[in-house]
Amino acid sequence: MSRLHRQSLIAYGAPLCETLADIPEPRGSEVLVRVNRCGVCHSDLHMQDGYFLLGDEKKLDVRAGRTLPFTLGHEIAGVIERAGADAEGATPGRPVAVYPWIGCGQCAACRRGDENICAAPRHLGIQVDGGYATHVLIPHPRYLIDFAPLTPSLAATLMCSGLTAYAALKRLAAHAALGPALLVGMGGVGMMGLALARVMFAQPPIVADVDPAKREAALAAGAAAAFDPADAGARKALLTATGGGAYAVCDFVGSERSLAFASGALAKGGKALVTGLFGGSFTMPVAMFSLKAIAIEGIQTGTLAEAREVVDLARRWKLAAPVLTERPLAQAQAALEALRAGRVVGRVVLTA
Ligand SMILES: [Zn+2]
Ligand SMILES: [Zn+2]
Repeated sequence: MSRLHRQSLIAYGAPLCETLADIPEPRGSEVLVRVNRCGVCHSDLHMQDGYFLLGDEKKLDVRAGRTLPFTLGHEIAGVIERAGADAEGATPGRPVAVYPWIGCGQCAACRRGDENICAAPRHLGIQVDGGYATHVLIPHPRYLIDFAPLTPSLAATLMCSGLTAYAALKRLAAHAALGPALLVGMGGVGMMGLALARVMFAQPPIVADVDPAKREAALAAGAAAAFDPADAGARKALLTATGGGAYAVCDFVGSERSLAFASGALAKGGKALVTGLFGGSFTMPVAMFSLKAIAIEGIQTGTLAEAREVVDLARRWKLAAPVLTERPLAQAQAALEALRAGRVVGRVVLTA
């Protein structure tokens, strides 16, 4: 019998390495998915480190509740291989994207369908073994989403970067009707956000990124204008270009500097969404909330229903996928290193 090959986290702060295990046998409602594609997400770097940066040298330790070796990877698309007796509709051979933000099913958040913010999550590649592997075990077929005719690579990336960008932009829709949205950070999620904003909003968005290559990629993908937040005159130029600031701003980076730039670019009555987890802390004079009548809101990916919505939207609008680069699963560590070094434009997707 063939075995389960994984690129495993064997120690925090150390490179991934290949481990072998028995292929799990699905029981009850469980479904075994053979992984074809798994996107490499920036949050995988934090998982590998074992912490998130909170600013002022403080760290949020995220090592608890996980036994090593552990398999990262939460942007998964594959094919159903086997299913337990109670896994209705899980026909072997069916290509599926996997919703990874699986909750406990019991808490208040899960009961209202917000499994992504569950109190005791079982998120794939975060708390439960994920997709940097040849196979992944899913607790129930409800988490499997048909994606044809999209490519497996796009379908995989829709499960985190696509879903996160979609959920964020959805919460900005009313504000984006008032003027062009500003998208800060053109990494994997930001580029996906740009592609989605082009079909969700009436006006093409303005973008900001410190990297000229990423600004160029964004302009080529239809951004109305691109600013360098590190440029001292950028904020003023942006306020001029927007006639006083943007009503809808999305910070896909989530760093001290990105949120300072994002919030500084808000028009009176504007709203900023934060999806990024880069780290750091953020301060703002409290009176500004009232004086500028602004809102700053955070989200953590999106719900299962929203994952189905973003797949439908990509299908319906023939979404122009951001640059997707495929690399073999065995190069997972090299892909993480490239992402850490800021050398990735778009998204890297591992092929198993
Ligand atoms: Zn992710
Ligand atoms: Zn829950």
